[in-house]
Amino acid sequence: MRPEAVEAMLPFLQDRFANPSGAHAAARDARRAVDEARDIVADCLGGQPGEVVFTSGGTEADNHAVLGAVRLHGGRAVASAVEHHAVLHPVEHLGGRLVGVDAAGRIDLAALAEALGPDVSVVSVMLANNEVGTVQPFEAVAETVRARAPQAILHTDAVQGFPWLDLATVAAPAACVSVSAHKFGGPKGVGALLVRVGTTLEPLLLGGGQERDRRSGTHNVAGIVAMAAAMRATVDERPATIERVGALRDRLVDGLVAALPDVHETVPRAAKVPGSAHVCIDGVESEALLFLLERGGVYASVASSCASGAMEPSHVLAAMGVAKERAAGALRLSLGYASTAADVDLALDVIPDAVRRLRR
Ligand code: PLP
Repeated sequence: MRPEAVEAMLPFLQDRFANPSGAHAAARDARRAVDEARDIVADCLGGQPGEVVFTSGGTEADNHAVLGAVRLHGGRAVASAVEHHAVLHPVEHLGGRLVGVDAAGRIDLAALAEALGPDVSVVSVMLANNEVGTVQPFEAVAETVRARAPQAILHTDAVQGFPWLDLATVAAPAACVSVSAHKFGGPKGVGALLVRVGTTLEPLLLGGGQERDRRSGTHNVAGIVAMAAAMRATVDERPATIERVGALRDRLVDGLVAALPDVHETVPRAAKVPGSAHVCIDGVESEALLFLLERGGVYASVASSCASGAMEPSHVLAAMGVAKERAAGALRLSLGYASTAADVDLALDVIPDAVRRLRR
């Protein structure tokens, strides 16, 4: 976590541990802290404080947008085929429709237009992909939705986009925006859904009526306060982080390509966020590679993290049309604000050796 986020949360785990829904002075103190955090989160997302609904993370925010829209308004859900499972599974659960992508993972706008109509109540397209880093043409998506399904709620999963993209501009056409604190130096288990004025969703959680009846449950005050601190730091440092981490990522990928034959960059760099390095390496099995990398101190992944820790074939690479044999050697390396030149040096030391060993 970012040090400023840890520092911000500690008092709310100690002396200031009160329930903001209470009536006494300590409760009012906690409520003020949540309100201040709400102002910061709204500012960083380009919304108004009353539009912020605090959640238990990205999964809840995504579920709330998709399920909440269809349960309240009826109709169909439409999403891109490369969404995180937190969007994909609710859409599939509702019998909704998935729209294909091109070889770089960008949504097929003609297919999107064709999937839309007056019976669509929610359209969900992520800003940046968690596996391969592709940035979606969100303004064009919004235009297509305005033209073909103006009644639909446009939701974006900005969980991976937030560290790199200015949501106040990029996500401006979205009626609902999901973020998750652990992707930008905040704690796990806290996030937010921005629900713009005029957009209505059925709540997922009923109970005490917190968050103006949109999300019941005692506030995770420490988590909310820490998320806001991490958000502020992320936004303030974003231009410098993009430049620094983008250069690290470029050196990492260039180094791998130079050191080894038959390493394929999955998505052109211009089409993706600066923190994402995704390659497919011929002649190795990802699982064996990850094992050797871990022994060398490099912790990487293949697709997305799932509960079992098992490696499932990537639905993202499949949707992009990456051949199975090539996807078998997929390697996902993620960089962030905390990444250093020494991290890249280590990766460039360990990965080529491990690949050569497996190929032998
Ligand atoms: N959406 C995307 C794009 C993600 O990468 C993740 C995180 O893994 C999620 C949603 C889910 O967020 P959380 O882990 O906070 O539930």
